[in-house]
Amino acid sequence: MTAGPAAAAPGPAGTAARALTSPPAWAVAAAAAALALVPLGVRDAFFLNALITVFLFGTVAQAWNIIGGYAGQISFGHAVFFGLGAYAAAVLLKEVGLSPWLGMGAGAGIAVLVSLAIGYPTFRLRRHFFALATLALGEIVRILFLNWSFVGAAVGFYLPLEYRNRPGYLMWDSKVPYYLVSLALFGSATLLVALLDRRRAGVYLRAINQDEDAAAMLGLAARRYKLYAMALSAALTSLAGTIYALYVLYIDPYNVMPGRLSLLAVVMALIGGRATVTGPVLGAFFIVLLNEYTRSWLGGGGRGADFILFGALVMLVSIREPGGLVGWLVRAGARTQPAAIPDPDPPPATPQNAAPVPSPVTPPDATSSPVRAVAPHPAARSALPAPVLLRVAHLSKRFGGVQAVRDVSFDVYRGEICGLIGPNGAGKSTLFDCITGFTRPDAGAVHLDGMLLSGREPYQAAWAGLARTFQAMRIFPELSAWENLMCAQEHRGEGLWTASVRTDPPEVRRRGCELLQQFGLWPLRDLPAGALSFGQQKLLSIAIAVLRKPRLVLLDEPAAGVNPVLVDAIAQHLRRLNDAGLTLLVIEHNMDLIMHLAHRVVFMAGGEIVAIGPPEAIQRDETVRELYYGR
Ligand code: ADP
Ligand code: MG
Repeated sequence: MTAGPAAAAPGPAGTAARALTSPPAWAVAAAAAALALVPLGVRDAFFLNALITVFLFGTVAQAWNIIGGYAGQISFGHAVFFGLGAYAAAVLLKEVGLSPWLGMGAGAGIAVLVSLAIGYPTFRLRRHFFALATLALGEIVRILFLNWSFVGAAVGFYLPLEYRNRPGYLMWDSKVPYYLVSLALFGSATLLVALLDRRRAGVYLRAINQDEDAAAMLGLAARRYKLYAMALSAALTSLAGTIYALYVLYIDPYNVMPGRLSLLAVVMALIGGRATVTGPVLGAFFIVLLNEYTRSWLGGGGRGADFILFGALVMLVSIREPGGLVGWLVRAGARTQPAAIPDPDPPPATPQNAAPVPSPVTPPDATSSPVRAVAPHPAARSALPAPVLLRVAHLSKRFGGVQAVRDVSFDVYRGEICGLIGPNGAGKSTLFDCITGFTRPDAGAVHLDGMLLSGREPYQAAWAGLARTFQAMRIFPELSAWENLMCAQEHRGEGLWTASVRTDPPEVRRRGCELLQQFGLWPLRDLPAGALSFGQQKLLSIAIAVLRKPRLVLLDEPAAGVNPVLVDAIAQHLRRLNDAGLTLLVIEHNMDLIMHLAHRVVFMAGGEIVAIGPPEAIQRDETVRELYYGR
């Protein structure tokens, strides 16, 4: 792995806090190089042993961090992957004299296969099924090895000592080579996480963790990403297991796949600070050194006492500082130096030092011009009928006794703004769910540009060119506004490895800058999206939906719950986006807004379409007036 230039990091430059939580690759490499000098000065065996343990268990914590921290899939079974790495290399060395450097690869391969076998079925379900499955995996594999006589069953076996100090066999009398090898592994694991963190894959994993449905609607194939994170995590863990086996030279199930290691990995990552690069590093030093030194003080009588302490620490951390040690450092740092909002890259056209957090967002032209009357549809100007973009045919959906959508058919034409209105409970949101694949309709078909959409997953609908906002706010609260936007880029045909190593394409970043400036969110780009005001979040959710210029954007009540000034601003943004060529299907409760915005209006009530037509006609329609206003 090469230490890629840190300057290639995506999005805006890092803040001081970001430098603490996710240092650039060169800083990780420099720290590892400094640690490599330690054995020159210190030869104390107890100390070196403690650090080797820090590095090996730290690698497990860092590996756990990829799946448990970034992807948010809590694993209680990482000891299995550690043990598989240990057993595979040890058995291959003992039976056929294969160098552990090669055996390591075999162990990693087996660990990857096992991790995929556990992830593939459980990632379909929501997260606790995965946690339970890993817990069961830990028990099952340990019992299997305890009874498998070929690998020594419960008695275990010693590694053949005749390979000691032979080049290429990873087995030495001195502790120093083990120190260096385990440090190299820990450093590489941390470097890998540092790269992931700053590249697209890390942001995508965090997005999937925070809101899987919203991520799917952006075209992120969540399960694939989770499997990828899981495989990477299992492989790294198994490498640590191999080195551990070669270090202790003796292996049995209690030694190389203890349940306590699975727990330690969780504890180290949580106490250090999960979903950060430095968290598991701090956690590993803190926990392992605490563990080693308390054990030596307490002697044999301390067994179990350490876990009471860790349990208390985890409770303390989750109550007082959910960000862990790193979160605590960041907060301590923030008190001493106020962080400035950094300049982005590429630079914007507008002033860069605008005051942050104007609330509510009021684009400069919002107050001066009221919502203007609807423009004629492009097709009306050209006198040719616009081609059908979305065709909904005989769509029905029933929830128990409620017929939410009943035999709904309508078209959306390319280039128009189509309004979808109707009283609460009319079935509008359910219709969106059916179109975008979140709900499987009981009957009917949806075609986008002639392509059948119904029956597909939401991420496939996104790939086909659909984008959507949700009635309830669905943004990624812990990602910055900028990262939220970058998650919304085109994911169709994107390889996992490509996403891991490449930064955001310049044209995507340019469009992101443009949109943030247009929407008045530019000064807020580095704030966590969850810290924005409600109106700002609404604007951000629209920016997210339109970033990749999808064929059709479905907006579910984009102006609900915001103040009247912002309603006008949103209307103008939507019109401008439409002028630029985007086709919109907009659910809205605000009759005035939709009357001024839409070229055509579909009116729904009781799951059925009651009327379709130009806004003025809908507004005058007797049935509509009765159903909507009750008169
Ligand atoms: P609208 O968006 O027009 O206000 P919805 O599509 O949200 O309406 O809801 C239409 C009807 O379907 C309502 O009666 C609602 O209670 C029902 N409904 C929606 N989603 C579900 C669900 N997941 N389970 C059961 N009933 C649902
Ligand atoms: Mg709704």
